[in-house]
Amino acid sequence: MPIATVNPANGETLKTYEAMGEEEIERRLQLAEATFRTYRTTSFADRARLLIRAADLLDADAEDVARVMTTEMGKPIKQARAEAAKCAKAMRWYAERAEGLLADEEPADSDVKDSGASRVRVRYRPLGPVLAVMPWNFPLWQVIRFAAPALMAGNVGLLKHASNVPQTALYLEDLFHRAGYPEGCFQTLLIGAGQVDDILRDERVKAATLTGSEPAGRAVAATCGEMIKKTVLELGGSDPYVVMPSADLDRAAQIAVTARVQNNGQSCIAAKRFIVHTDVYDAFAQRFVDRMKALVVGDPMRDETEVGPLSSEQGRTDLEELVDDAKRSGATVLCGGHELRRPELPGWYYPPTVLADITREMRIHREEAFGPVATLYRAADLDEAVLIANDSPFGLSSNVWTRDEAEVDRFVRDLEAGSVYVNGMTASHPAFPFGGVKRSGYGRELSGHGIREFCNITTVWQG
Ligand code: NAP
Repeated sequence: MPIATVNPANGETLKTYEAMGEEEIERRLQLAEATFRTYRTTSFADRARLLIRAADLLDADAEDVARVMTTEMGKPIKQARAEAAKCAKAMRWYAERAEGLLADEEPADSDVKDSGASRVRVRYRPLGPVLAVMPWNFPLWQVIRFAAPALMAGNVGLLKHASNVPQTALYLEDLFHRAGYPEGCFQTLLIGAGQVDDILRDERVKAATLTGSEPAGRAVAATCGEMIKKTVLELGGSDPYVVMPSADLDRAAQIAVTARVQNNGQSCIAAKRFIVHTDVYDAFAQRFVDRMKALVVGDPMRDETEVGPLSSEQGRTDLEELVDDAKRSGATVLCGGHELRRPELPGWYYPPTVLADITREMRIHREEAFGPVATLYRAADLDEAVLIANDSPFGLSSNVWTRDEAEVDRFVRDLEAGSVYVNGMTASHPAFPFGGVKRSGYGRELSGHGIREFCNITTVWQG
């Protein structure tokens, strides 16, 4: 894939970049290693000052960087602005809390005595240069949610961003540079996916985090397994959204639409499979479809746009194939479908679509629909709702709508996912751990769990 900015709203190539060659990569790896040697000894207070300065700069740049993101990958401009603000918030959250999250831990006195020590401490020390392989869908957020904790822990970052968001990738390097970080603390490597393997095998790179698709995650994890390096994987999702009879149906339908079409439907934590109790199925479906039909689709630079284009032509083709496969196997199109594509929109648009009568044989039941296409399932009772929800290779997040606490307990006990959102939609927050199970990956980002992923958890025993 060429490293280029191609506007998905019209298909126009705006800027292309040469991939960095071996010499430049070597220079940057040397710099990362050298910088780590001194940066690791800096105080939390110094690191926090730098990160807060970066957050202030990002706030000041928000409008400009939002426009860059929308130009590169097509998200509605309002959502791009919100993404920039969310990043600055997460940076401040880690700047303020990292010292507490990584404070030395002292085991219980009885255990210290039992080990024959006079004192035992557990210290969280940084690992070194960490390679972050990142996707285009939240081009700022995915990077910041890695970089803020990693830098506060004393690690240094190397970013291999998706090839279609090079300007956002370069902006990020420049942001940390302008904030006053030592050169080498955060570097963008403009490289293709084929250049990642050699970097993972380099001894100077100590760990890797990847947010992206299953094949990319498998490739990175395989090499890191061979090299015995720590990885965190944040992969795809096909999150269930369960609606039970006691739910507030209007609210559940309203939030369902946002949960499905946020980021033009290209979010790992978008609700994708809507599993509705039979008693309220028709009432929910009606409300949901009416709202999906009413969405404003169009130019992502306009404030009123709710759904913009998909990020690439290939992405749209993949989605069309999933919908075609479902239709061939008997799915009913309640709204949308590619017949409704609007010819006056030259970019890679896809109309908000709802499919019903989904069966296990359909690809869309097992695969991730990365675009504004929802699937509706009818469940006879809670047990069947849980069965359908868990009948997926993915286990990222889950959403349930009920006012019955006993039902909440059942869902929390039984849903195979990294989080359960009750009467709301999944949204990440710096204070809460984020990540999945099954083929959605492993490890956690955000919160204290996230910052400790790339630490050497060191036992200090004193006799
Ligand atoms: P992708 O094709 O896997 O790309 C992600 C990153 O991996 C890009 O930088 C890509 O580089 C690189 N890459 C691809 N193949 C690779 C390989 N064999 N070895 C090393 N690096 C490789 O995914 P995407 O299409 O950009 O993103 C969409 C996917 O990300 C969806 O499945 C979505 O659910 C998932 N996602 C997950 C989370 C989460 O937190 N769990 C969050 C957001 C997105 P190139 O661009 O150069 O190919």
